[in-house]
Amino acid sequence: MVVEQKVKIDRFGNAWPATLEFCPECGQPDNCGDCTHKQLTTSEVGWLGGWVRLHSEQKYNRMHYNFVAKRLRNHYPHERRAISDTDVIYDSGARRVIEDIAMEFAHRFLADNPEFDAPAFLDQCSPDPESFPFSELWRIDDNE
Ligand SMILES: [Zn+2]
Repeated sequence: MVVEQKVKIDRFGNAWPATLEFCPECGQPDNCGDCTHKQLTTSEVGWLGGWVRLHSEQKYNRMHYNFVAKRLRNHYPHERRAISDTDVIYDSGARRVIEDIAMEFAHRFLADNPEFDAPAFLDQCSPDPESFPFSELWRIDDNE
């Protein structure tokens, strides 16, 4: 499954919307092919639609990602619960709630850290990414 990255990080650590054209050398936006590979200033980055990344302002880290993913994964009802010999119940309501929470955290973490790998995090929230690929939710959300 290929999930497109929404954000690209240049050599200097600044983040850019992935829809721009980039210099292959330094990764900064370059529409004309005459990039000097010198780091753009903070105001230039802002003007071009990028985000200057300030590590000191990052609120969350891998420890938070793992903590949230584990809690959601452990509470996701993934067993088919037999209610009789022929019927099973899938707890679809509880699943949707957990998927919504996972998506909300994914958006929050990405806003906090442009390098955050939302699809990978989402699959980490799933007790079984083969059967329940949470990263699909991200792709669907993207297409809306
Ligand atoms: Zn360049």
